Amino acid sequence: MSQATEQITERESRGASTPIIQAINTSRDYQLAGEIVHAVSDVSLDVRIGEFITLVGRSGSGKTTLLNLLAGLDHPTSGHVLFEGADMANFSEKQFIQLRRYRIGVVFQSFALLPLLSAYENVELPLRIAGIGASERSKRTNEVLEIVGLGRRAKHRPYELSGGEQQRISIARAVAMRPNVILADEPTGELDSVNAAQIFGLFQEMVHEEEMSIVATTHDSTLLDMADKIYTVHNGEIELSGVGTRVDADARFKRPDDE
Ligand code: ADP
Ligand code: MG
Repeated sequence: MSQATEQITERESRGASTPIIQAINTSRDYQLAGEIVHAVSDVSLDVRIGEFITLVGRSGSGKTTLLNLLAGLDHPTSGHVLFEGADMANFSEKQFIQLRRYRIGVVFQSFALLPLLSAYENVELPLRIAGIGASERSKRTNEVLEIVGLGRRAKHRPYELSGGEQQRISIARAVAMRPNVILADEPTGELDSVNAAQIFGLFQEMVHEEEMSIVATTHDSTLLDMADKIYTVHNGEIELSGVGTRVDADARFKRPDDE
């Protein structure tokens, strides 16, 4: 078996083609001053295990609304969002809590760091809530802070950190939990190009080496092809606008004459 075929077989055997989150004809309307805004309009999207997806689109195109729907933080006006095949509309409050505590990590555009906690404590808190033991917690927290280059800022509170540093803490917090899916809203919006590419590189590593999926919104076109699939969001609708280099490579591997 060639190395390429082996890689494909390995990806397939760990379920590369199973959607972990699925949007089916999902719409979200807002009523605003008597007017209806179609923030997300009839979107169908599969987020598969081992897949890194980017959503790109102008401000107001519906990216945040779509991510919130995929995360179960918001509910569709019509259509469905499934997690591992189960409609989130039927989830109990307890199931949502479990989902967000263990399975889905969200990186908010506004970071959502707790102002009175240090960078270290912000990363560690969700691990504590999830019941992870003290030594594992400190190992993971230190590890992710190093990965995002903030090991030396561990004791700083959010207000003592730059916007970019706060953003990296919020990414570290999601990564430390090792959820099945990370949904990240403009996770590189505050970062310079070097740090932004590093974060996307980290996301690539995570989806390729662990059974993870990532959906990240961005408007930085230089980062787009680091993802496996690129969707353009426009007026609440999405369109597959490209596949990254790894998907291209995989498609080549699958050609019969390669075998
Ligand atoms: P993006 O993240 O791409 O900038 P959003 O998803 O935030 O876009 O917004 C999509 C559209 O929905 C915009 O027209 C926005 O004004 C509208 N919108 C978003 N949130 C609300 C809300 N809570 N109430 C009313 N309209 C909203
Ligand atoms: Mg947004």
